[in-house]
Amino acid sequence: MLSLFAPGVLVAASLISVAAVTESGPQPPVVRGIYGSPQEFWQKGMSLRDHHVNAIFVHYSAIDEETIRRAHEEGCRVYAEFATLNGDGYVEKHPEAWPVDETGQESPRQLWFMGVCPTDEVFLRYRLEALEKLVSRYDLDGVWLDYLHWHNQFEEPKPILVRTCFNESCLKRFEKETGLRPEGATIAEKAKWILARHEKQWNDWRCSVTADWAAKCREVLKRHRPRALLGNYQCPWTDEEFDRALWRYMGIDLNRLPRQFDIVSPMVYHGRMGRPAGWVGEYVEWLGKRLKVRPASRKLRIWPIVQAWSDPEGHAVSAEEFRRVLQGGMAPPASGVMMFTTGAVASEPEKAATMKELYRSPTK
Ligand SMILES: [Zn+2]
Repeated sequence: MLSLFAPGVLVAASLISVAAVTESGPQPPVVRGIYGSPQEFWQKGMSLRDHHVNAIFVHYSAIDEETIRRAHEEGCRVYAEFATLNGDGYVEKHPEAWPVDETGQESPRQLWFMGVCPTDEVFLRYRLEALEKLVSRYDLDGVWLDYLHWHNQFEEPKPILVRTCFNESCLKRFEKETGLRPEGATIAEKAKWILARHEKQWNDWRCSVTADWAAKCREVLKRHRPRALLGNYQCPWTDEEFDRALWRYMGIDLNRLPRQFDIVSPMVYHGRMGRPAGWVGEYVEWLGKRLKVRPASRKLRIWPIVQAWSDPEGHAVSAEEFRRVLQGGMAPPASGVMMFTTGAVASEPEKAATMKELYRSPTK
């Protein structure tokens, strides 16, 4: 999520509905969600039920008993967004977890994103304990992982892509799990050897680390809440974009990572990423084919998150544009949708009316 969505600021909401479900049987419920604290609605005297919202996606720091109770009362399911490989606030106090680039230096903070070394065992335990505390305490319908990728900032027209992490922890684990022994006396020499001779193994290994994080998060969630869904807020690129950056930089292998999830939510922020509104529907269609997702599937499902929010320093999303991206995000093979953000919709009557109209008639 964007930084404005940073800790404690943003919340998400989305909607889901009712029953049903087999490959050949009735269509699954259509999830009509909002991302952001529902307080933004409630404080304006607006009702989720009246807007046909049936799911809310909320930053985990904004989850409390009262929000869950009231959302349930309005017929909504409640999903918590959980920051995963976001090192902000952690790497400053634990410099050994700061991602290291191919020259052996700490890779700098990006515009607003700060990642972390994904193989740091102490950080892994720290995050899993936080997840366990969250899911054991609250009656959640699911958890959506965010920032499940290596240190790169992708929510930009031109993403900031760097090669990490070559610290001791990563080099040791790479050696152990691939059997390769990088040659050289320094990090820079070892990184050069890896990238020159074994780039594919390096990229595949990085993807395995990311998938391992997802599997561990899944184990924690399902142990406490077997029926809860695990979702992923995922970078909305094809395999080929930016010179195969999904695999080469982000550590995301579409043949592997989605298998750990019940739902994939591509973050199709057209305005933020400088793309036309029509791209949203095109990408969702592409992803559905790529992941072999069918709208009625009970296995892997796609619920995109589209952009309603206007960037005060960048692209302003009009109500008409919001209509187009919401329609694109909710068209098959998607079986649910949500928008970024609840606040943007709650504060702009025209967008709220658009959402209400489309959510009442999802197939319109
Ligand atoms: Zn590392």
